[in-house]
Amino acid sequence: MPTLDLANAKPVVVPPATTEPRALPAKPSLVGQGRDELKAALASIGIEGREARMRVSQLWGWIYQRGARTFEEMSNVSKHLRQALAEAYTLDRPEVVAEQVSQDGTRKWLMRIPPSMAGEKWHEIETVYIPTRDRGTLCISSQVGCTLTCSFCHTGTQKLVRNLTAAEIVAQVIVARDHLGDWPGQVPPEGAFVPTDGGRFVTNIVFMGMGEPLYNVENVTGALMTLLDPDGLQFSKRRVTLSTSGVVPEIGRVGAETGVALAISLHAVRDDLRDELVPLNRKYPIAELLEACRAYPAASNARRITFEYVMLKGVNDSIDDARRLVRLLKGIPAKINLIPFNPWPGSRYECSDWEQIERFSEVVFEAGYSSPVRTPRGRDILAACGQLKSETERLRAKDKAALMSKAEQDAFRAMSMVD
Ligand code: SAH
Ligand code: SF4
Repeated sequence: MPTLDLANAKPVVVPPATTEPRALPAKPSLVGQGRDELKAALASIGIEGREARMRVSQLWGWIYQRGARTFEEMSNVSKHLRQALAEAYTLDRPEVVAEQVSQDGTRKWLMRIPPSMAGEKWHEIETVYIPTRDRGTLCISSQVGCTLTCSFCHTGTQKLVRNLTAAEIVAQVIVARDHLGDWPGQVPPEGAFVPTDGGRFVTNIVFMGMGEPLYNVENVTGALMTLLDPDGLQFSKRRVTLSTSGVVPEIGRVGAETGVALAISLHAVRDDLRDELVPLNRKYPIAELLEACRAYPAASNARRITFEYVMLKGVNDSIDDARRLVRLLKGIPAKINLIPFNPWPGSRYECSDWEQIERFSEVVFEAGYSSPVRTPRGRDILAACGQLKSETERLRAKDKAALMSKAEQDAFRAMSMVD
C-alpha cells in the first residue's frame, strides 16, 4: 500500500495562472447540465417535444459517458444540429489552474469558476482524487466557502462566497475524469495511480470538500440526479456520500429524493461541546440530529450512516467520550469514522495523540463498530498526523501559508472514508 506523502506533493501541471478578471464566457457550456437545463438549451435552438427528449439522451451520452469535448465528434447527431449547438453553446470545462500529484497518487485540481457578476474576481475551488487499488474516490465541493463556522474547520473561517451551481458540481467530476483519462478509449497519464480492476477510475464521490451541501440543497440534489442517472454519469447511489454538519430539516428530503449514503459530522457527544465545535448544533441539537438519522430513508444495516468524529486532543477524545458515543448511536445502523484533526495556522486545537486515538478506537471497536483508523492505511494517516504535528512549531514560526492545504485536508478526510 503506498504511503501518504502529501507533504511532498509535486505540482506536475501548472499552466500560467492569470489573476486578471476575465470576461464571463460568451456562450454557456452544456457540461454539467441536467436534463431540464439541456431541454431548455435545445428549445432555445428550436428543438422541442419528443425530439428534444431523444436528443437530451443522445447529448448526455456524448457528454457524460464519452467525455466529448466538441460537438463535431458527435457522429450520430446531424451536421445541422451540431452546427446549431456549436453556434450557441460550448462543451467547456472549468479552467484548471493547477494540478498537483502526490507521491501516493492523490491528485488535486484547482479550478476557476466565474463570479456571479462580470468584473468580479473569479473563484477557485479544489477537487481531490484519492485512489486505492480497487476504488478511486473523488472529494468534491458544494460551495465556495461556507456560512457555518465550525471552530476546527478552516473553511469555517472563510465567509461564503457563493453556492456552486449543479453544473459546477458535476463539472468537477468531468474535469477529474478528463485528467485521469477516465473515458472509453483513453488511458491514464503515465505513472498515474488509478484502480486496476478494469473499471472506471472515479468510482466513488464524497461531498466533503468545501461547503455545507445541505445549505445548497437544490443544486446538490440537481447534481446528484445527473451523477446517478443511468443515462448520465451512472454512479451507484451506494458510492456517493453526502457529508453534513447536521442540517436536520433537509436530511430526510435529500435521502428520499436521491438515496445517497449519508455522513454526519458529529464530533461531540454532549450538546455543550458540540455547540462550540459545530455551532449549528444550537439550532439542531444532537437528539434531533440523531432522530433524523434514525428516520433516514436509506439507513439499514446494509446502508449504514457514517458518523465522522474529528479527534481533538483533550477536547473530545476521552474514553468517556468514546463510551458515550457508542451509547448515543445505539439502534442506528452506523459506521464511526475517527478523523485525525488536521491543524491549520491559527487553529486552536491539536490532533489527539496516536495512543489516545487507538484507545478511543478500541472502545468503538469493542462496541461492534468497524473502526477505519485501525486499518494499515489508517495507521499511515495517523503516522502522518503525528509527524505533521511535530512540525507544527516550525511551520508556525515561519508563519507558513498552511500546514496542509484545504485540498490535502480533504484528501486526508476522504482517505478515512475509503477504507
Ligand atoms: N460541510 C460538510 C462537508 C464538508 S466538511 C460537513 O461539515 O460535514 C467534511 C468533513 O471534514 C466534516 O466531517 C468536517 O467536520 C471535517 N473537517 C473539517 N475541518 C477539519 C480538520 N481541520 N481536520 C479534520 N476534519 C475536518
Ligand atoms: Fe462548513 Fe463543514 Fe467546515 Fe463546518 S465543517 S465550517 S459545515 S465545511
